[in-house]
Amino acid sequence: MCAPHIVRVAHDQAVAHTTRRGLFGAAGLAALAFTAAPAAARSGSVVDLTHTLTPQLPMWPGSPSFVAVPVAWHAAGGFAQQALALWEHTGTHIDAPLHRTPGGASVDRLAAEDLVAPLIVIDISARAATDADTTLTLADIDDFEARHGRIPPRAFVALHSGWEQRLPIAAAFVNLDPGGTPHAPGFDARAAEFLVTQRDIVGAGVDTLSLDHASSREFGAHTAVLGAGRYGVEMLANLGAVPPVGATVVVGAPKHAGGTGGPCRVLALL
Ligand SMILES: [Zn+2]
Repeated sequence: MCAPHIVRVAHDQAVAHTTRRGLFGAAGLAALAFTAAPAAARSGSVVDLTHTLTPQLPMWPGSPSFVAVPVAWHAAGGFAQQALALWEHTGTHIDAPLHRTPGGASVDRLAAEDLVAPLIVIDISARAATDADTTLTLADIDDFEARHGRIPPRAFVALHSGWEQRLPIAAAFVNLDPGGTPHAPGFDARAAEFLVTQRDIVGAGVDTLSLDHASSREFGAHTAVLGAGRYGVEMLANLGAVPPVGATVVVGAPKHAGGTGGPCRVLALL
């Protein structure tokens, strides 16, 4: 077992090491790797739903940023390698059931077939533009199915809130109020429960930092999805570049033993 404070010390040492070496410098907003969505993704193309992992990416309040430290380089030995220090829930990442549920499946135990699924994208960005606490509700699912048909079994349902537009300014993405509470859209707990029990989804995704709306203290969407053995993916990118139905998502989850989640490469196949 590695106590949390030991992990924290290792992380802090890595940060100090990185700062001394000036690897990333005082990266301004312009240095953020913000991937512009392709204007019109064509059938047969692949859309990357993953943010580039950088130390500047916004993090859930209290979680430290990602750090990469070169430990070998070409000039000394012929091969380059870096040591990484990161919270599992960093950047575009998966939440395994274990993240929320004692005894739940760790990320290495997720079924491979559940990581490839029909991709459903439900857009609530118009509402999210004026209400940071808005949620994807049962009414949104009804409306979506009236337009696009019933959500098929074993699909992955992603909530598109448009929050990605805030990414260049991390503080705007986290969106803390004066009391230190974050505000961002997420799944309403009843909608998440419905998707699991009535539509048998494999997982749910958001373009924000949390499956629940960020000011939630009940975390009902996390409980509904992860508690049922399904997985979540947070901080998805480019959801505006994929159709509401018809694409296939590939969730390239990490596979470390006992993991509660981790950064992943998520692709949409059109
Ligand atoms: Zn997470």
